[in-house]
Amino acid sequence: MRVFVTGGAGYVGSHCVRALLAAGHAVTVFDNLVNGHRAAVDPRAELVVGDLLDPVAIRTALQRAAPEAVLHFAGLINVGESVQQPLLYYRANVLSSMNLLEAVQEAGVRRMVFSSTCAVYRPPERLPLVEDMPRAPISPYGETKLAVEWLLADCAAAWGLGSISLRYFNASGAAADGTIGEGHQPETHLIPLILQVALGQRSEIAILGDDYPTPDGTCIRDYIHVEDLAAAHVAAVGAIEPGRAEFLNVGTGIGHSVLAVIKAARSATGHAIPAKVVARRPGDPPALYADPRRVRERLGWAPRWTDLQEVVASAWRWHQAHPQGYAKGG
Ligand code: UDP
Repeated sequence: MRVFVTGGAGYVGSHCVRALLAAGHAVTVFDNLVNGHRAAVDPRAELVVGDLLDPVAIRTALQRAAPEAVLHFAGLINVGESVQQPLLYYRANVLSSMNLLEAVQEAGVRRMVFSSTCAVYRPPERLPLVEDMPRAPISPYGETKLAVEWLLADCAAAWGLGSISLRYFNASGAAADGTIGEGHQPETHLIPLILQVALGQRSEIAILGDDYPTPDGTCIRDYIHVEDLAAAHVAAVGAIEPGRAEFLNVGTGIGHSVLAVIKAARSATGHAIPAKVVARRPGDPPALYADPRRVRERLGWAPRWTDLQEVVASAWRWHQAHPQGYAKGG
């Protein structure tokens, strides 16, 4: 297929582009390179530098590429920032998706895969999280992602768009060959921050609360390897049904505490990685992990990276080889 990938220069998008190429698809990437990196885009893909907030740019690029499917990764992802700047998030995540959907409708594309998130759920009373559990995000970030899920469902009913929204848990790790990885500026995610301590770039990792109602008192998350996420997208592209909007969790189904992640990083890196307990971060649910049954049944997908230490080790290879992340402007 010819596929069009918004945000294909970002962390998850760039790994997905690789997987799509490996599966034999022809790929056009559309990215404004504000948070994405040119160096992360596989040279076999065509890169169009453009912004989804520019309706003419996206319409022109989409018409020229004439894809059979669109994968939509572009957007802002920082929960804390979304609380401070909700308008920025609604513009970058909702308005930009509306521009994309208008161009998709006009170009006659009927297949979409959307990067959604487990942040669309209400902080759960029961685990694991099943797709039908109540959606009630606690951050503007989660709200913007849920708003796009609604748009996709409405477009399915109105003009037959087929879509699969993949609700990611904690995307982690880096390409097994160490050539692409995670390079957020500023970094807020646990595993890269821990690895910055191992690299000597930070003195210690802050454990954001150890008084949660979990076995060791620290928060539990479901760390899903970025290559497994990419494989789920490739499977989703081939499974979209016209006129149907579907929503699937993509996680391992296994939760790990912050302390367990630090321990895995100590083993993977051989560094001591000093840690200090500090106050909770507002809005962090105590525990989140997926029930991955529906995605397994629907897409025949299962995670391959099931060992947390190996997930961290893959990120460590990337961070060691690229201690400053991607070059600025690269
Ligand atoms: N966390 C932490 N120290 C940090 C950053 C994160 O203890 O410096 C914890 C955070 O409370 C959460 C987990 O690590 O329980 C994963 O956080 P991250 O920001 O990577 O992803 P989130 O689950 O918030 O999307």
